[in-house]
Amino acid sequence: MARIVAVTGTGTGVGKSVLTASLCAALRGRGMDCRALKPLETGVRPGEPGEDAALLGAASGPGWTAGIETLELPRSPLAAARAEDRELDLGALEAAIAGAARRCALLLVEGVGGLLVPITAGSTVRDLLRRLDAEVLVAATAGLGTISHTALTVEAARSAGLRLLGVVLIDVDGGTDPGFAAENATQIAAQCGVPVLGILPHVGDARDADALAAAAAGLDVSSLLLPRPDPTGEVVAADRRHVWHPFTQTGEWRDETPLVVRSGQGCWLVDWSGRRHLDGISSLWCTVHGHAHPSLDAALREQLGRIAHSTFLGQTHAPGALLAEELVGVAPAGLTRVFFSEAGAAAVEAALRIALLAQRHAGHPERTAFVALGEAYHGDTAGAVSVGRSEPFHTGLDPILFPAVRVPSPHGNEAGSLRALGELLAREGDRVAALIVEPRVQAAAGMLTHSDRWLRDAAELAHRHGALVIADEVATGFGRTGDLFASGGAGIAPDILCVGKGLTGGYLPLSATLATEAIFDLFTGPYAAHRTLYYGHTYTANPLACAVARASLRLFDEEDTLASARRLAATLERLTSERVSGLPGVFDVRRRGVMTGIELRDGDTPFEPARRVGRAVTLAARRRGVVIRPLGDVVVLNPPLVMSDAEADLLVGAVAGAIEEALPG
Ligand code: PMP
Repeated sequence: MARIVAVTGTGTGVGKSVLTASLCAALRGRGMDCRALKPLETGVRPGEPGEDAALLGAASGPGWTAGIETLELPRSPLAAARAEDRELDLGALEAAIAGAARRCALLLVEGVGGLLVPITAGSTVRDLLRRLDAEVLVAATAGLGTISHTALTVEAARSAGLRLLGVVLIDVDGGTDPGFAAENATQIAAQCGVPVLGILPHVGDARDADALAAAAAGLDVSSLLLPRPDPTGEVVAADRRHVWHPFTQTGEWRDETPLVVRSGQGCWLVDWSGRRHLDGISSLWCTVHGHAHPSLDAALREQLGRIAHSTFLGQTHAPGALLAEELVGVAPAGLTRVFFSEAGAAAVEAALRIALLAQRHAGHPERTAFVALGEAYHGDTAGAVSVGRSEPFHTGLDPILFPAVRVPSPHGNEAGSLRALGELLAREGDRVAALIVEPRVQAAAGMLTHSDRWLRDAAELAHRHGALVIADEVATGFGRTGDLFASGGAGIAPDILCVGKGLTGGYLPLSATLATEAIFDLFTGPYAAHRTLYYGHTYTANPLACAVARASLRLFDEEDTLASARRLAATLERLTSERVSGLPGVFDVRRRGVMTGIELRDGDTPFEPARRVGRAVTLAARRRGVVIRPLGDVVVLNPPLVMSDAEADLLVGAVAGAIEEALPG
């Protein structure tokens, strides 16, 4: 696809069309395959061509249509479309512009007014440019007020991650004082840290192609002549030299071509070449509302404008305190206290410590054992590994782990698992501090599911024997299983709840351990009684993360995210049963909500781990534009909750194709 450069203005009437036409004519004059587009033009009578589009069409040379949509009312595209009783389709506009970009080497796209002009109820020109990954040239009139307007536009472009090529000052009516314009240019360059490409003189007759091309002669267009910078090679080289990746086999990493993500939008990741990849695993199960959601972006920026971090040790702040209150409002009943950490594993560590000390403070120092499920995974710090130990991941770690008591996973044998739990508790229940479970789905074990009934029975057994129940919802929380929390949906009342991943919608590292008031009260007492929870991290309740988490919770209401999650779950159910279940090598397809595991086996026998079948499917899916990550030979799908039916179709289709490629007949 061609490079797309958007010409945006600090306002309307600043001369964007003339600048765009003049740049197009000048670059074509230098032999460049440059064309110009005015995708949206308002104030155009039905059936007539837009004036600006006509100008850009003429500058683009024969055989080129420079307009896409026209609207009659000379207002914002949103208002003009409403007056015609319709809504503009951002996706269709994006596709039309991208289509035009495929037919030339450099596409100049003239915006409508400024960056924040609304196109639809929820989107602006800036959103459209971000989706197109356009670079930006800012057009401004020289004169009083231009410094502030230009600085605001530059800030708006930067805060959306748009690459700025520079500013052009325009002498719209021929009356600009050259000294004043030069003074503006110097100040803008210094204040905004952006090059001013020059001052475009007044063009008497904009239909005169030679005059247009001549006007641009004084502009420094070198950045438009060079190819767009692509740091992929440099990034990969630095990575190979210095980075140590988590859960990544070093030798395999060296041999594969890594995906270098530059940006994201909705359910898509974009690499530096502009290629889009569908995010089938929500960037490791955490992206909820999609990448670059305007509300989450805005919440982060707003908080950043106040303070990025301030400690929560003996102090408080609005994002942390209000998030705690809002979390309690949506958490399973009875959980009224919130302890913040960063990683899911840290939330689990806090849960273990709170459970152990709560039993002690309640007069049960003998209750020191933790009951955990077979195949459990609770994170990678030592305490979390102690309750979530699995081979071969944790071989050799015993000296730093404590022994947990195991009950077989309920997956595949709920009655047996429950019986074992009952026998264990009958035998040694009086030394158990807590039972820790991943409710509904043991995710990292390969999306192993169990029934709500089993969960209720297990929790009831634990409570009957005086053990606390810790629900680790780091993976299942925030809508993944169809309810906001799996434990609430299943009807259990955990004493302690761990959340992480989706808490910030997938934006920032924040986790939380929620506890009941009864547990919290056990930690209250005179200083000398040492009831204080001597535990915490430097970045506990980071205000940026808390602000985004609050915005994410609001989105669950505003956008009815749970309804989307349930719809997507049904779509995945249908698509996987139609296209994946019957494929050779597919042993089982498991799903709860959107959390889907496709287990691959050779008939009934697991594949030799060294064959790396799951990885082969992942790489084949990558070639089809889809990002997934397996758990051994279980192919995992766990998309953002807002994935559309069409995207889900693409995802499952690509995964089916990848399985067929990796395991032909
Ligand atoms: N608990 C569960 C159930 C998890 O699935 C995970 C991560 N997959 C964790 C804890 C650990 O979370 P983190 O990676 O953020 O430490």
